[in-house]
Amino acid sequence: MPDFDVVLIGSGPGGYVAAIHAARQGAKVAIVEQKATEWGGTCLNWGCIPTKTLVQSAEVLRTVRRAAEFGVKVGEPEIDWPAMQERKDRIVKAMRQGVQGLLKSNGVEMVTGRGRLAAPGEVTVDGRAVSGRNIILAPGSLVARPPFKGADLGLTSDTILGIGKVPDSLVVIGGGVVGMEFAGIFSLLGSRVTVIEMLDQLLTPLDPDVAQRFQQLMAKRGMTFHLPARVESLERGDSGFRVTFEGQQVEAEQVLVATGRRPNTADMGLEETGVTLERTAIKVDQHLRTNLERVYAIGDATMISMLAHTASYQGEVAVHNALGGHPVSADYSAIPGCIYTEPEIANVGMSEAQARAQGIEPRVGSFPFAALGRAMVLGETDGLVKVVAGPDGGVLGVAIMGPRATDLIAEGVLAVHQGLTAAELTHAVHAHPTLPEAMAEAALDVDGRAVHIAPRQKAAAARA
Ligand SMILES: Cc1cc2nc3c(=O)[nH]c(=O)nc-3n(C[C@H](O)[C@H](O)[C@H](O)COP(=O)(O)OP(=O)(O)OC[C@H]3O[C@@H](n4cnc5c(N)ncnc54)[C@H](O)[C@@H]3O)c2cc1C
Repeated sequence: MPDFDVVLIGSGPGGYVAAIHAARQGAKVAIVEQKATEWGGTCLNWGCIPTKTLVQSAEVLRTVRRAAEFGVKVGEPEIDWPAMQERKDRIVKAMRQGVQGLLKSNGVEMVTGRGRLAAPGEVTVDGRAVSGRNIILAPGSLVARPPFKGADLGLTSDTILGIGKVPDSLVVIGGGVVGMEFAGIFSLLGSRVTVIEMLDQLLTPLDPDVAQRFQQLMAKRGMTFHLPARVESLERGDSGFRVTFEGQQVEAEQVLVATGRRPNTADMGLEETGVTLERTAIKVDQHLRTNLERVYAIGDATMISMLAHTASYQGEVAVHNALGGHPVSADYSAIPGCIYTEPEIANVGMSEAQARAQGIEPRVGSFPFAALGRAMVLGETDGLVKVVAGPDGGVLGVAIMGPRATDLIAEGVLAVHQGLTAAELTHAVHAHPTLPEAMAEAALDVDGRAVHIAPRQKAAAARA
């Protein structure tokens, strides 16, 4: 008789959420976390939460600097970096304790130590055997270092969180989500930021139109971009670091290497027990099963989407399947992607370009925040909402750049997930004056019916 119904390795948003789902269904659950200080995983300790607390501090600074625009006189604000750090650390600590408290109150056995898969049904934790009818692997991911010379001299997304001061200048190598979030934070805090990206657009696979608008806006605000550009080396320079790329050089006080993450699957018994890996990611089927009986895997270690909410969703699906429900397949068609820059960016489903690549002739509606009352009131008029619909009007995707885009995307997620048409989306009454009205207007614009922008030429021509 195994000790537990479910044993999880890893306590990130995949592992701890899965543990709670399993416990709520009456299962006897154990969860293994290698470090006592890392309950909650990357997301809570190094990712989503600490970065967003810094984003918020930077946004408060920006708001105070703009106070005069709103008729409020304040003195020149000062950055108190240690206080920003202290706030971040306090929030992370409180949330870490919250995760531990939730696991405890749900009766989940918490085991601290390095977990290894010894066999299907058996995990060892620092040598001690823990058996489970089902095993769920959720070991997450680690920072990946690119192969250029000197790459290990740069800061990573882990180490930049604890730097002692705001650098005067910062080179960010990698214009993906993590790179651009840190570029945004430090740019708002006053660093001169240069971004070097290997691909020909930022934030791939974001809608290229939105990515380009974002880059233009950031350039206008003082960021420098080099793309497409491949970094050749990083070395110490006279006053910091020197980055060489495409025959050019740029010097900066600090350099962040943000070129991606890799599955954290080494040295946990996967090769020895015969778990199939794709490169280093754990291969799973649509039910989140590995090739081994009753061994599941979720989260970043599967490299399916590398997002916290995907990990949690996969955790719920894996638990359902492990505990013997009618098997459910994971559906990734409506996973939102959120980027906490200023302005924020969020997307779900297909972009216009992706629809075309799949042979669909999309009908696209868009609406600029500059034409929205609430956005004007907030003083946040950069950006737009874009709704991509199929020939039958069904919403295939939504992309947003603008105020609270990461909250607004929830309606787009619902539309894509529920297969709503753009017309159905607009039939739900949107309160006035609110930011979601931009979503309703963009959906109306799919049929050329947006109210608060001038009629599109083609709609006007059709009526003529
Ligand atoms: C800077 C940054 C910002 C991010 N921002 C966002 C965001 O805003 N939104 C978003 O959705 N995602 C964000 N992410 C991504 C998000 O953090 C990950 O997708 C998410 O944490 C993955 O969850 P997970 O459960 O798979 O693994 P993880 O969160 O990585 O957790 C895995 C846990 O397993 C433990 N572990 C590993 N191996 C073992 C072992 N052998 N034994 C015991 N324990 C083990 C680790 O210590 C870790 O605690 C961000 C990531 C970074 C780096």
